[in-house]
Amino acid sequence: MAFHKKEQLSEPAARHRKSSAFEGRELHPDAILADLREKHDSGSLSHAQSLMLMRAGNYEHVARLKKLGITPVSRYERIKEGQLDYLVIACSDSRVHRLDSEESASVGIQIRVAGNVVPKSGTPSFDEMKEAVSRIRKDGMVLIEGHVHCGAVKERAKWVEGGMKPTGSESLDALLHEVFGTSPDDNALAQLTKARETLGLGSRPSAALCYDWEDSHVRVVKSNYSADIDNLVVQWNKAHRKAAAEEGTWERLRQQKPHAIAVAADDLPYSVATILHARQNEVFCTTGSAKGLDAMDEASILYALGHLGVKHITFIAPGTATDDSAISSMFDSWKKRLYGNRSIAGMLDSGEVVISRFRYDLSTGKIVAVA
Ligand SMILES: [Zn+2]
Repeated sequence: MAFHKKEQLSEPAARHRKSSAFEGRELHPDAILADLREKHDSGSLSHAQSLMLMRAGNYEHVARLKKLGITPVSRYERIKEGQLDYLVIACSDSRVHRLDSEESASVGIQIRVAGNVVPKSGTPSFDEMKEAVSRIRKDGMVLIEGHVHCGAVKERAKWVEGGMKPTGSESLDALLHEVFGTSPDDNALAQLTKARETLGLGSRPSAALCYDWEDSHVRVVKSNYSADIDNLVVQWNKAHRKAAAEEGTWERLRQQKPHAIAVAADDLPYSVATILHARQNEVFCTTGSAKGLDAMDEASILYALGHLGVKHITFIAPGTATDDSAISSMFDSWKKRLYGNRSIAGMLDSGEVVISRFRYDLSTGKIVAVA
């Protein structure tokens, strides 16, 4: 791991080096996490520090799995066998709280897309959702999760007021055509209707939810009644209340300020935030697949780079030790798509924005760099 590199350690973290151990080495990850988070809260992290924050969080994830005596392999098998308990389609916004944890008994896939939209058929994002639905058990759940202060909903309201003219960005235009209404509730409801019409949900319970961080909970906007949905929401809200009780949470969430955007494969057995042990407002998320990235993903990434000042994009896909070449070629196609956007290509070429690539090791939960 990268923690031994002295130049990446700040002074306060370096002070802990002598008194504690990290993987038998110099530094305790808690000290690194605390120090990097403080830096993140007060300004922007360098590329190396952003990477280090993710690795330190992942170390925590690996340690938790080890303590529980579990590996992500069995969860991954449940996905492949079509035994998923739920699918959540949630906004890319970094303030959206993670819904799973290492301790979760239920297994879900979380697809992250700007404005929690269900896009048109024929796009990779739509195919990801369709594929995910096919992996849910017959009575598993499909949930659309909107949230208060959604940038995509606000952008759409402005765009409609201005006469729905082209914005100059094809990907943003494509996204704005998929968002609906003037409130996150309206939008979540409309996306639920689209999901029911186009994703082949069968008789599976489904619901539109809205996450309100001012009130620290997820609220059911509409659901075809299912005790399972209510139970899951109750369970999630325990985690929401716990996060809200941490000192400074409200202050941190007032403004969106992620240090990285994660483009995560659509079949990870835990959410990216759980894999990276990320707190709210640390990682902006979108979802990719072997079919590639599309306008929805590009719009998310552009927003994070252009409006939120993110300088680090990371790709994460599940894998075993032997399949790096398949993961690598998928990542190459994602990168190629990003290079198709002139503005993103410029930021990558100048070195202002960097891409890191990781395989999520299914036997340990560790993220391992992929060439
Ligand atoms: Zn949003």
